[in-house]
Amino acid sequence: MNLSSVKRDLARKGYKMTRPRRILMEALMENSGWVTAKELHEKISLHQGHVDFSTVCRNLDALTGLEVLCRVDRENNGIFAYCLREMKEHHHHLICRSCGKTSLIYTCPLDGLSSESTEGFSELECRFEVYGICKDCKSNTAAKKNDFCQTEQGRK
Ligand SMILES: [Zn+2]
Ligand SMILES: [Zn+2]
Ligand SMILES: [Zn+2]
Repeated sequence: MNLSSVKRDLARKGYKMTRPRRILMEALMENSGWVTAKELHEKISLHQGHVDFSTVCRNLDALTGLEVLCRVDRENNGIFAYCLREMKEHHHHLICRSCGKTSLIYTCPLDGLSSESTEGFSELECRFEVYGICKDCKSNTAAKKNDFCQTEQGRK
């Protein structure tokens, strides 16, 4: 993903690459990970100049709606984090509660719903995140437990 491809993408959908959007995209491209609106706003204020916090929030959500960014409630606390969208296809995220590692899920709960069960609602939008403990964190805690048992036994 680069700025000019995003610009083309936005133009195709009838949107402009405004100054705040360009600044946001530049900051996100440098970052290559998940950031909250607050973190991004701080970074922009340090390096790129003044953009209102509300402008940052509004444009992050707009870019998410335009499928340029992904938005996830990573810590399950109502605070969203954003990153450049990893792939065009519709997807959801699997998030490690311990280290924050995020993987993609390609199935969508909406796929299983009939139009009857959604009562004729249109423009459906799904928010679906799965939280768990990743393999690495699981084996790390297992390893720590073993260390602990050994030292305990060693003391006896
Ligand atoms: Zn994503
Ligand atoms: Zn983990
Ligand atoms: Zn979905």
